[in-house]
Amino acid sequence: ALSIGIVGLPNVGKSTLFNALSSAGAQAANYPFCTIEPNVGVVPVPDERLDKLSALIKPLKKIPTSLEFVDIAGLVRGASKGEGLGNQFLANIRQVDAVLHVLRCFEDDNVTHVEGGVNPVRDRDVVDIELCLKDLETVEKRRERAQRNAKTGGKAGDEAKAELALLDRIKAGLDASITVRAQKLNEDERAAIRELFLLTDKPVLYVANIGESQIGKEDDSVHVKAVREMAAKEGAGVVVLAAAMEAEIQQLPEEERPGFLESAGLTEPGLHKVVRAGYKLLGLQTYFTVGEQECRAWTIHTGFKAPQAAGVIHSDFERGFIKAEVMRWEDLIKLGSESAVKEKGLLRVEGKEYVVQDGDCMHFRFNV
Ligand code: GDP
Repeated sequence: ALSIGIVGLPNVGKSTLFNALSSAGAQAANYPFCTIEPNVGVVPVPDERLDKLSALIKPLKKIPTSLEFVDIAGLVRGASKGEGLGNQFLANIRQVDAVLHVLRCFEDDNVTHVEGGVNPVRDRDVVDIELCLKDLETVEKRRERAQRNAKTGGKAGDEAKAELALLDRIKAGLDASITVRAQKLNEDERAAIRELFLLTDKPVLYVANIGESQIGKEDDSVHVKAVREMAAKEGAGVVVLAAAMEAEIQQLPEEERPGFLESAGLTEPGLHKVVRAGYKLLGLQTYFTVGEQECRAWTIHTGFKAPQAAGVIHSDFERGFIKAEVMRWEDLIKLGSESAVKEKGLLRVEGKEYVVQDGDCMHFRFNV
């Protein structure tokens, strides 16, 4: 499963956010849980389209698609040199596909700030510097190897020289604390360093964790403003939420939540925004399968062709793929039934080359 690592300095609200996300996951009805470690939670992706399809079709089960979140503790100033929990966090970050960086924007004298005071942009820099230092080690190791290989002749030697030039450039950037993702590498260069799993190459989403009293007034917060400006410079997304309140909302009985949200001036839990933004950050899309047994959302990468998309359900579906019947979820809602969609000529039959679109409803035909 694709996963998102939650990082940030201590006491910024990472665990609070993680716990809110996990309890949201634990409560999702009908979700088939896999074994979860204490710091790993599986969270359903909220999707209004699935809700509407299920309201129309009234299946026995409604199954949302999901994302995995990992709470990564132990990042402090000096972590790359073994401070705090030291290097333990690294193995955890290497494994995730994207990073959610929690930044403390709430003021609370009872909660110690490890860096002295609330300053989310400085905190971001502290974390990024540690990650850059770790990437430097990785790049330097690889560079030594490339240097040796560059001395040999022929094609291998030329390749090593090209690699060396690229690594030198990345190293110079990292030396100046410029993350790999900010170094504007092209596709080929990205591919060349993919197997290094550099920590600062992963896509990032920032969470500005505000105090409850700031909800609805976040535009007045100098901290939130600073985070937005910083993120805009690197083209990253920002979700503003109050982690402590998100955790509280999850403790409420389901029927009390809408009223609570409304009185807090929110239209939906901030968690929903986090999950959706994470999904987008990973370049993911959703298609649906609809039937009386179940209405279900499935995750695919943008650009998947029909057989690959079928393979997400079962590898046999991909191997034996013949064709797919496709309709748009909007058409199904608008026309009220599959037969009505068919009558209107809006049920298409697509083959192996069809690129599945976000929001398609699919029936697969396959050989077993
Ligand atoms: P972590 O070290 O980043 O995982 O931080 P925690 O989630 O453990 O939070 C550290 C402390 O800050 C806890 O006492 C939380 O209750 C508190 N905290 C987290 N979010 C908020 C918030 O939005 N407002 C306030 N006032 N306190 C918060």
